Amino acid sequence: MKLIDGKATAQTIREELKTEVAALKDRLGRAPGLAVVLVGEDPASQVYVRNKIKACEDTGIVSKAFRPEASVSQAELEDLVRRLNADPELDGILVQLPLPRGLDSQRILDLIDPAKDVDGFHPVSMGRLTLGLPGLRPCTPAGVMELLRRYDIPTKGKKAVVVGRSNIVGKPMALLLAQPGVDATVTLCHSRTRDLAAECRQADILVAAIGKANFITADMIKDGAVVIDVGMNRTEKGLAGDCDFHAMKDKVAAITPVPGGVGPMTIAMLMVNTLAACRRRMGLES
Ligand code: NDP
Repeated sequence: MKLIDGKATAQTIREELKTEVAALKDRLGRAPGLAVVLVGEDPASQVYVRNKIKACEDTGIVSKAFRPEASVSQAELEDLVRRLNADPELDGILVQLPLPRGLDSQRILDLIDPAKDVDGFHPVSMGRLTLGLPGLRPCTPAGVMELLRRYDIPTKGKKAVVVGRSNIVGKPMALLLAQPGVDATVTLCHSRTRDLAAECRQADILVAAIGKANFITADMIKDGAVVIDVGMNRTEKGLAGDCDFHAMKDKVAAITPVPGGVGPMTIAMLMVNTLAACRRRMGLES
């Protein structure tokens, strides 16, 4: 069994980015800039935001944090996004989700300038992904693709099964795996899938993005499959993935651990997207 080490891979990507960010800074006279908006005091969101700001510091990207109180009005938050859109030194805008109750996240996301949409959730970004046009891709599925590439996991003609159809993970994941050049044959499963175990057992590559600890068991995996576990579930025993890692580790060809698999890649890809957004905005990349 090959352990797919997302933590080490993310570290390698960060090192690569450091050099690229420094070179871009020399050329532009400024480093790429990322605005991070955290509304309210949600503890999990605070940890995510802290990690993202730390990743910016490590790679040389300038981060600017904006922390409106949970009582901020929809109009005030929309004004903030408009100001960030207009700031020439900001290349990326990230609004940490979920937003407090009473705020309309979709309206906020729709307002972000697609050129600065480093989370890849804007309808324009999703549309470009669907059409196979260049653009900013959602970070978690992009991180999975990067792991498959860097670990030389063959995808052409392979059967990939994605469990979970959310807009931020499952759906874009299925599109990325099916795109020309990657060429997997993709099945997208969800809570209404009739015989999930039978679908999963067909998978050469299984991506689990469900949100239920240890939900995918060893008997649902075929011998020699590659298992990518996106799940991050808090349990009494700590963080658990969606897949029963210990039961299936001797059966699979390769697997990502939780923690230390897909999670660190998500943040690394946010940095990659910020650099790419900066390059595109400055006319250095199509
Ligand atoms: P959502 O809750 O938005 O989506 C979960 C999906 O799983 C839905 O499509 C749902 O189906 C499907 N599902 C739920 N129960 C079943 C079931 N019994 N059988 C089959 N499918 C089922 O979650 P997210 O996509 O946002 O996140 C998924 C997991 O990934 C979570 O653990 C989350 O914490 C983690 N995550 C990790 C990230 C990382 O960086 N590593 C980033 C983002 C998320 P239906 O649509 O029918 O309801």
